Amino acid sequence: MKLTPSISLVGSGVLGFGLSDAYDCHVYWVDGGTEAAIIDAGGGRDPDTIRNNAAKDGHDVSKLRYVLLTHYHADHAGGAAGWRKNANVQVICAHDAADAMERGDERAISLDLARQHGYYPSDYRFSACPVDRRVRDGDQIRVGRWTLETLETPSQARGHLCFRGEVDGKKVIFTGDVVFYGGTIGLIATYDCNLQDYAKSVIRLGKLDIDAFFPGHGPFELRDGGKHLKAAAEKFEKMAVPRNYF
Ligand SMILES: [Zn+2]
Repeated sequence: MKLTPSISLVGSGVLGFGLSDAYDCHVYWVDGGTEAAIIDAGGGRDPDTIRNNAAKDGHDVSKLRYVLLTHYHADHAGGAAGWRKNANVQVICAHDAADAMERGDERAISLDLARQHGYYPSDYRFSACPVDRRVRDGDQIRVGRWTLETLETPSQARGHLCFRGEVDGKKVIFTGDVVFYGGTIGLIATYDCNLQDYAKSVIRLGKLDIDAFFPGHGPFELRDGGKHLKAAAEKFEKMAVPRNYF
């Protein structure tokens, strides 16, 4: 599903538009001309459908070089190891998320609990994945003609990143699971989802000037997308908690 000339939504499961496997988050393809990136990897059960969706949108899938992970939850990062089987593909995630990714630590990423509560099939397993680049706040990632900047936004998980940049003349942001459409958030009862960190991250995002808003689940917005960030930030600024998406 083409969203701008260079950005397509190529994966999306039950919390989205059903473009790919049920356990996939939104997977965005960013085409930089000479090379391409995906934002989040999906759950890893059916990457071929994601790849085919990119090809159908006219992207050259052989140009994929980077998998940029917003966080390590299985619907976002479970597919990383599979993409990295292609020797040209590097996996990039937050410094704070990298050790758990490399160990495939299902407790650290709360997959043990999520599976127990039926959010994943009982036979689903997370594939450990080497991390090629560990990034921190303000790092720049070049994807062909585009540059994306990382924002460390601890929230639904520790080691959560947003990626922002200017693509096709729009100020875009990929927000993972920090803020969703309508200023809702993704608060969950896991050990590393910290409300105070969450508030700080969202208040910071609310100050950004954004056109296109691309969250990890649910509707996106191509114009004035910053209003979703501001709506969530305004709640936190008043010591309230924004409505939950889940
Ligand atoms: Zn998610």
